[in-house]
Amino acid sequence: MAQILAPSTQCQTRITKTSPFATPISSKMWSSLVMKQNKKVARSATFRAMAINSGTINRVEDLLNLDITPFTDSIIAEYIWIGGTGIDVRSKSRTISKPVEHPSELPKWNYDGSSTGQAPGEDTEVILYPQAIFKDPFRGGNNILVICDAYTTQGEPIPTNKRYKAAQIFRNPKVEAEIPWFGIEQEYTLLQTNVKWPLGWPVGGYPGPQGPYYCGAGADKSFGRDISDAHYKACLYAGINISGTNAEVMPGQWEYQVGPSVGTEAADHIWASRYILERITEQAGVVLSLDPKPIEGDWNGAGCHTNYSTKSMREDGGFEVIKKAILNLSLRHKVHMEAYGEGNERRLTGKHETASIDTFSWGIGKRGCSIRVGRETEKNGKGYLEDRRPASNMDPYVVTALLAESTLLWEPTLEAEALAAQKLALKV
Ligand code: ADP
Ligand code: MN
Ligand code: MN
Ligand code: MN
Repeated sequence: MAQILAPSTQCQTRITKTSPFATPISSKMWSSLVMKQNKKVARSATFRAMAINSGTINRVEDLLNLDITPFTDSIIAEYIWIGGTGIDVRSKSRTISKPVEHPSELPKWNYDGSSTGQAPGEDTEVILYPQAIFKDPFRGGNNILVICDAYTTQGEPIPTNKRYKAAQIFRNPKVEAEIPWFGIEQEYTLLQTNVKWPLGWPVGGYPGPQGPYYCGAGADKSFGRDISDAHYKACLYAGINISGTNAEVMPGQWEYQVGPSVGTEAADHIWASRYILERITEQAGVVLSLDPKPIEGDWNGAGCHTNYSTKSMREDGGFEVIKKAILNLSLRHKVHMEAYGEGNERRLTGKHETASIDTFSWGIGKRGCSIRVGRETEKNGKGYLEDRRPASNMDPYVVTALLAESTLLWEPTLEAEALAAQKLALKV
């Protein structure tokens, strides 16, 4: 047993100074290590018993939990980027010599674009620019997750880098002055790994109709709560501005909200939260689906409602500004629908709390509209609007930047504006 619990070879390596950078281990470090090891005996006793029973002395769990901070200043940075489909997240790890607090302290890095569907030319090298950092809930300590965007070796943003244009829009003085806030409701579906059928559903069959599942509790109503909850805590630990979660209308479907967050930060946080969700579902042996309509028929699809406000909307008289924004959005409906996620036409049918993809509509307190204004906003005469059109697989850089562009930078002709105002019964 003593041998099983001995500190890992990493400590021994450091003490015997096989590494030229090794520093002698202080007694404080040793006692903290021994304490940690002792604590772990109780926690992982079951795991160890199982491992020994199966004839293998498995110390992987101990190593995964190993706190490296007393032994090295180095940290592990997980560089995360968006792959060639525009929705897949990729990542790889590297050692950084000391803890960092800002992405500007991190080096650029590169990856092989030909392996992610992102190298159109001869040159397959794609360069990663660190843009946002989060604490790593998987490795703990000072280790970090790094959200990156991607460039060619000449410094041009590659086609799937939607962050670049978003950052330009959010840097525009007109947009910046309005301090745009976004609250994003990310819906997702959990699937059984081998059959790709929703969690909790009988394989090859269907559960009872929708009704009891939304915000439900109980073994016959809630499927995947552990994943939703583990994700919630991991996001808070990471420093993601997660504001809540709930079980959705379709069984096996969940939602969490991020925000309100300002400008590009909202999308950085959504991508980091999606990455964390991929990792947790990977550990749980469940498949994450962001498909906007994972199951055809009388089942709700999965969206990514985007709540949006500007400074003027949040101040007195804001409802008038919201109406003007809705008017602009109605005139840009097609542009938005093309950018709001693949397969969204399967979801936006006019049924299941959606509006039809072909027609723009708005309403107060109505969930079958393209844009909803909450009762609270109406009552206060200020607040925010909810764009209910984005699909669960939308790129939040695209959606947030387009909302800012269409409402703060784009202007319709007077004629178009008058016509739209009449059609939508909007006096502005
Ligand atoms: P729903 O009632 O549509 O399910 P949720 O409670 O799930 O709404 O999500 C609402 C989101 O709107 C939250 O993320 C919240 O932080 C965000 N939000 C609240 N106020 C504002 C605001 N003024 N501007 C933008 N987003 C906001
Ligand atoms: Mn919601
Ligand atoms: Mn929802
Ligand atoms: Mn909503």
